[in-house]
Amino acid sequence: MIIGIPRETLPGETRVAATPETVKKLAASAKHSIIVEAGAGAGSSIPEAEFQAAGARIGSAAETLAADIVLKVRGPTAAELPRLKRGAMLIGLLNPFDAAGVQSVAGTGVSAYALEKLPRISRAQSMDVLSSQANIAGYKAVIIAANTYGRFMPMLMTAAGTVKAARVLILGVGVAGLQAIATAKRLGAVIEASDVRPSVKDQVESLGAKWVDVPYANDEERKIAEGVGGYARPMPPEWMARQAGVIAERCKTVDILITTALIPGRPAPKLIKADTVAAMKPGAVIVDLAVEQGGNVEGSELDKIVAKNGVKIVGFANLPARVAADASALYARNVLNFLALSLNAKTGEFNVPKDDEIIQATLICENGQVVATN
Ligand code: NAD
Repeated sequence: MIIGIPRETLPGETRVAATPETVKKLAASAKHSIIVEAGAGAGSSIPEAEFQAAGARIGSAAETLAADIVLKVRGPTAAELPRLKRGAMLIGLLNPFDAAGVQSVAGTGVSAYALEKLPRISRAQSMDVLSSQANIAGYKAVIIAANTYGRFMPMLMTAAGTVKAARVLILGVGVAGLQAIATAKRLGAVIEASDVRPSVKDQVESLGAKWVDVPYANDEERKIAEGVGGYARPMPPEWMARQAGVIAERCKTVDILITTALIPGRPAPKLIKADTVAAMKPGAVIVDLAVEQGGNVEGSELDKIVAKNGVKIVGFANLPARVAADASALYARNVLNFLALSLNAKTGEFNVPKDDEIIQATLICENGQVVATN
């Protein structure tokens, strides 16, 4: 069989779905040919010679897209779709919540596996691309904030006087938010954090941050807040209003705000209103990690830094692509682990276990039909 690794063509996408490390493992049985498109590793600083040394051949876009197994980071573009081969296996971040997009992938006749749909069970942790990439986004958000902020992060005592530590607020404490806390802590900031899910409080405190409590008015609110499958659910408007009030007060005191709140398959919840931004300190920095899902912050704009009353709102998309080499390394390992369900790298044997819950959860289309879109 041929395993193809195309170059990602979406603007700003620097990642690649395989690295020399994973290619070497895929090539171990010598039963399959691995073709990497010329330039596929360039954005992640991987020289072609390293892919070749690992056992791959460098080929064209057409060859990699027409492979039996196609490993991608992002879903195929309109130009790439007709080049896929009927019956091939396509693995990547295929945006399963975009029904029209899934329909067009189905039209190619491939069996497509959307890694966003991996169930959050312990067996799938090594394949969990959302976690591996959110971890990177949380780290990079803090680095970008520190870089945009016109003051120090740590408290410093110098001969010229004392510099106060930056106060950082993190909203949404999933994988990205936890890494943002850890990174801001390493830089010496004073941190507080909040999330809708009550189970997060202990994790926040164990990382040395202060928990900002938004009370639940009744058991029903608390039940919704617990979420489902590790993910949050939309909260009632009454709780959202209470949260907005609590957070607006905290925002008046903080220097850096990082928002990461997401609900799968829905627009990001709006947590920060324009008047909250207007009441923040001049020089404060906001990084809105949810900008691609519509943003947590009123006024954040995709791929821009917007200044409002002296507050800078950073809305950069795809932060993992700004840490391309490590993002690719982790993503490629996730993909290899997912593929290992079907492909025994040592013997080269290939057999998709159709009854495996991970395979069932991620399969979005097959034989020209959409299997599931959400
Ligand atoms: P996510 O990216 O979907 O959301 C980010 C955070 O935003 C979540 O913590 C969510 O609760 C929060 N949020 C949503 N609406 C909010 C609101 N209105 N106000 C404040 N916060 C809001 O989530 P994620 O980072 O992918 O993961 C969420 C959880 O799943 C984490 O606790 C993580 O540890 C867990 N997880 C488990 C596994 C596993 O068991 N295999 C794998 C990955 C993640």
